Amino acid sequence: MNSKIWLSSPHMGGNELKYINEAFAENWVAPLGPNVNGFEEDLEKFLGEDAKVAVLSAGTAALHLALIECGVEHGDEVICQSMTFSASANPIAYCGATPVFVDSETETWNMCPKALRQAIEDRIKNGKKPKAIIVVHLYGMPAKMDDIIPIAKEFDIEIIEDAAEALGSTYKGRPCGTFGRFGILSFNGNKIITTSGGGALVCHTKEDKDKTVFLSTQARDNAPHYQHSHIGFNYRMSNIVAGIGRGQMEVLKDRIEARRSMHDFYTDLFKDIDGVTVFSEPTSDFYSNHWLSAIIVDPEITGKTREDLRMAFLEDDIESRPLWKPMHLQPVFENAPYYGGNVSEQLFNDGLCLPSGSNLTEEERLRIAKVVSGFFGK
Ligand SMILES: *Cc1c(COP(=O)(O)O)cnc(C)c1O
Repeated sequence: MNSKIWLSSPHMGGNELKYINEAFAENWVAPLGPNVNGFEEDLEKFLGEDAKVAVLSAGTAALHLALIECGVEHGDEVICQSMTFSASANPIAYCGATPVFVDSETETWNMCPKALRQAIEDRIKNGKKPKAIIVVHLYGMPAKMDDIIPIAKEFDIEIIEDAAEALGSTYKGRPCGTFGRFGILSFNGNKIITTSGGGALVCHTKEDKDKTVFLSTQARDNAPHYQHSHIGFNYRMSNIVAGIGRGQMEVLKDRIEARRSMHDFYTDLFKDIDGVTVFSEPTSDFYSNHWLSAIIVDPEITGKTREDLRMAFLEDDIESRPLWKPMHLQPVFENAPYYGGNVSEQLFNDGLCLPSGSNLTEEERLRIAKVVSGFFGK
């Protein structure tokens, strides 16, 4: 019996246990210690650009703190890319604020700069300037930052980059996650590197990083007793989990190579199949880590739907998944304002994410190729 092929599964490097054992040996079994500091230093070195990184319990927690540090409060509005995972938008609701969703453009599948401008102008006309803009680098593909940043500057609105899927991606040579006032990373089990669960907030000043660490460790004022003048959170990463992160950082470059090689595999696999497009960088300004490889299946040309293909994969125990369902189409956000057309909706209808793990074997690639050639009759 063939074993299941996953969309994206954890891939350990080998030294993770060494760092965990060190933590046990020195009794740093706590949300602080050498692994926490070491993992932060590794990430800062990798990102460059004066990045100051605070590691946290999740990417979602990082976004929540970023919104708070941008001053988002009850009754405020925050612009968010609609085509994304719900964790990009949920922290807006944690703050008691309202998400304003914006459509994608067709090249990067990320925030459409035209729809962004329209949203800002209309919200201001309605009497409320949005407090922040959450831009996502979906599936590792960098958003069009050169078009988005000037709009944010013009209206003086902070950018929070959701780079949860884009560690190792760059736009014009600059790492995703370092463009906004804040960038968030995720080390959840399915991401390009994982700590089993975890995240980070990328800051650019010592003040922002210190504030993040302060808020994530229950906001204790400087006093011998427990003294508080802010609402705090228990969002800091543990020293055990950070040990996994240090081991994973040793192999991050290999993981990016392997994911990009899966994208090459699919580009080759679908090159002669009319009506199937592999999601790829529009120009050499964009460098994607290709966290997940994805395709668009045009039913008019292929006579088949992405759902047909998903079922064909499933029959051989191969996991594939529709693209993120846009937030403006989610029942939980049905009352939130939305700007744009039907780009993200169309992507959702016809798009499919394919097995993209850095640990897929040659044999597993052959199994995938066999399903594809059988399905399309090629
Ligand atoms: C995974 C992910 C998150 C959330 O990260 P967690 O670490 O799971 O909380 C946020 N945004 C996007 C786009 C993601 O893919």
